[in-house]
Amino acid sequence: MIESVEIQEPVGLDDYAEVVHLAQAVHSLREEASRLLPALAGRKVWMVNSTAQGGGVAEMLPKLVAMLNELGVTTEWLVMGTEDLRFFDLTKRLHNLIHGAGDPGLTDEDQQLYAAVSSENAAELKRRIGPDDILVIHDPQPLGMGALVKRELGIPFFFRCHIGLDEDSPETRAAWSFLRPYAELCDYAVFSAPEYIPAYLAGKAGIISPAIDPLSFKNRELSAHKLAGILKNSGLASSRHPVVPASYHEQATRLRPDGHFAPMNEETEIGIPFRPIVLQVSRWDRLKGYSPLLDGFVCMKQALVGSDVSPRQRRRLGNVRLVLAGPEPSAVADDPEALSVLAELIDAYRDLPHWLQDDVALVSLPMASREENALMVNALQRCSSVVAQNSLQEGFGLTVTEAMWKQRGILGSRACGIRQQIRDGMDGRLVSDCENPEEIASLLESMLDDLPGRTHWGQSAQLRVHDEFLVFTQVRRWIETLADRLRA
Ligand code: UDP
Repeated sequence: MIESVEIQEPVGLDDYAEVVHLAQAVHSLREEASRLLPALAGRKVWMVNSTAQGGGVAEMLPKLVAMLNELGVTTEWLVMGTEDLRFFDLTKRLHNLIHGAGDPGLTDEDQQLYAAVSSENAAELKRRIGPDDILVIHDPQPLGMGALVKRELGIPFFFRCHIGLDEDSPETRAAWSFLRPYAELCDYAVFSAPEYIPAYLAGKAGIISPAIDPLSFKNRELSAHKLAGILKNSGLASSRHPVVPASYHEQATRLRPDGHFAPMNEETEIGIPFRPIVLQVSRWDRLKGYSPLLDGFVCMKQALVGSDVSPRQRRRLGNVRLVLAGPEPSAVADDPEALSVLAELIDAYRDLPHWLQDDVALVSLPMASREENALMVNALQRCSSVVAQNSLQEGFGLTVTEAMWKQRGILGSRACGIRQQIRDGMDGRLVSDCENPEEIASLLESMLDDLPGRTHWGQSAQLRVHDEFLVFTQVRRWIETLADRLRA
């Protein structure tokens, strides 16, 4: 089952070029593209992944595809699928194994299932692809299909793997040997960090960093007026004053002590944008480290009683609230792992003493409208003093990039993807042990107390994103990679 995804990107390169701090990046991209375009003339690039919505890859693809087209590289986005749901259980297992988790016992039956769905999709894909086209396969789900098409048509075949682990373990080895017969057929592989490249692909693999779109709903600048409108329309803050845009389709809700999510009112609202906020926004995934972050925040709050801090810091630590935000439960209803992580967090919240429940907000963000969801994430990030990403593991971590671009003080873990972005003490701070609540508490407290530090890290972080992790750099590297390999 292959479906074509139509992309509507109303914002084009001319729009970016009009923004003073983006103009130079657009100019260099255009120059580089026109230099390299002859190598790609007459070829069409097919980008294939396994979902049109949800997660970092589907977040990035529309812009990448739209920009390549605008620069003259004809590109289409396809999504593979199957009715055999066991396939996605298997690829979810492979995904987890590549991250070092799960049972490494993959069977012949698993191989047969993967081969069968790959060949069913390959038969369909082949009919769309011309002899001069280029295939770019994103992540392990469509890798088998891509390899089979490569074997038959002999076209250039790139494997873009967005996941990885900076460790070699029985789990990672099981997944990478399972995929080896397919991955080895690629002409070139692209990873997000050098640590992720499996040994058998060394020598024909390189790095392209994921990237964000500075004018997207999630990352565009928000005037104070717009920000106030989003907070009110989404229910993240209340006000008796009217705002011009219509109320959102659905409101953000906050966990109540009875274990249910409910819209916020004057009594239960979080205090955005008045209070200092520590935010983590992610999927409800154990590897995102929500639970130790919550413990760290609680530890910091409890240590305040009887501690010797300046009156200003005492007020700050007294007022600060932790927001743990993620997709509404109904949007993850088919993901038992997400539901169990959320259920554990709900239990942990319910076990907190009453005075701490006020200072912790588990927030469910509606997913029905991608635009509204993105604006909520944007507003939450901008209203935070510290954005945390306490991931036990992280392939890259677009939430970190998003917060860096917004000049936030970032508390990250040392997960490989986060280390690619944040240099500790330069662009933010990295906790050594993200499962140690005392350490999280002490770093968080010192960051909250250090406004000059947060300002400095934020400025450096934004500059780093400008140079390395904006979509212009990503598109340029893709064009360079494709052109280089075609010449090779
Ligand atoms: N995200 C979102 N709404 C949510 C939770 C997450 O839009 O309720 C976004 C987040 O802003 C980021 C993406 O989902 O753009 C997650 O990408 P990341 O690379 O951080 O992690 P992944 O989910 O791919 O592991």
